[in-house]
Amino acid sequence: TRTPVNVTVTGAAGQIGYSLLFRIASGHLLGPDVPVSLRLLEITPALKAAEGTAMELDDCAFPLLRGIEITDDLKTAFDGANVALLVGAMPRKAGMERGDLLSANGGIFKPQGRAINDHAADDIRVLVVGNPANTNALIAANNAPDVPKTRFTAMTRLDHNRAVAQVAKKAGVPVTEISNLTIWGNHSATQYPDLFNARINGKSAAAVIDDQAWLEGDFIPTVAKRGAAIIEARGLSSAASAASAALNHVNTWFNGTAPGDWTSMGIVSDGSYGVPEGLVSSFPVTTKDGDYEIVQGLDVNEFSRGRIDASVAELASERDEVVKLGLI
Ligand code: NDP
Repeated sequence: TRTPVNVTVTGAAGQIGYSLLFRIASGHLLGPDVPVSLRLLEITPALKAAEGTAMELDDCAFPLLRGIEITDDLKTAFDGANVALLVGAMPRKAGMERGDLLSANGGIFKPQGRAINDHAADDIRVLVVGNPANTNALIAANNAPDVPKTRFTAMTRLDHNRAVAQVAKKAGVPVTEISNLTIWGNHSATQYPDLFNARINGKSAAAVIDDQAWLEGDFIPTVAKRGAAIIEARGLSSAASAASAALNHVNTWFNGTAPGDWTSMGIVSDGSYGVPEGLVSSFPVTTKDGDYEIVQGLDVNEFSRGRIDASVAELASERDEVVKLGLI
């Protein structure tokens, strides 16, 4: 029998955690034959709620679930971790300045980066879901000097999946016919879903749809503002779809992109496509066995260039702010 993979989930008692944990335990993170051991990190007041979730996990008698540890201690949470899903974060409250938001999250992601550095397994791979995800990943990565920066990623897979669904709907085809979609930049309202390199049944999506007014007036804002639309409709923020995207992100990272296709991941830039080195930005990537590579040589037209640059400028100003705050 295989040794279980240690999976740490932070903010485990939250909404996303509640959707995420049951699917991790049933094999949707790493595969149907990989046993997992869960470490749930929560802030002290939420430990009791996390225990409730753990009781329900026990009650599912998942064959792959080999253990659950619940803690508010960083060392215990990340000790020997192979995969870490950083979901818990400080949400933006009404009237909060960006500096306050970044500083509150720095208080979370700086010590977590340090704990990952000091206690996680050598093969640790990290996905940051908690917002502002890109900059939280930047903070964690920069506080883990002994861990390769490539191991820290931020989630734009939900944006990617939202864009795939919108394109499929517009073209009247199943989502399985949509490929080569890219989310560029920040997981924020400035993100850029790229239709020009996307394909519908192998043909250029922009040529098949050929509707710039829809692209600019409908597609891009619908994808970018989807989170707000769900809060408006459901009265709660999206959680099951965010959890599903987190599973997709990690699963694709380990199990690979399909031949000829790619996915979107927030990763530390190597300078590709004019994105300054070191920023955590979303790129088109191919993956294999826990590694990834940026897809090179894609055509970036003038429209795309402007959108990517705007999102990257936002990332650069978030980075400047966290530098100023002494977080990295
Ligand atoms: P959720 O589980 O709904 O969300 C958690 C984080 O994911 C938020 O930062 C949220 O950002 C982000 N997120 C990213 N993408 C999405 C998306 N598409 N839809 C919704 N959220 C998204 O939050 P809850 O408040 O229910 O739970 C958070 C839990 O984290 C609490 O139990 C809290 O105690 C815990 N926590 C734990 C910490 C720790 O372990 N050290 C630190 C801080 C909190 P956004 O708010 O911008 O939507």
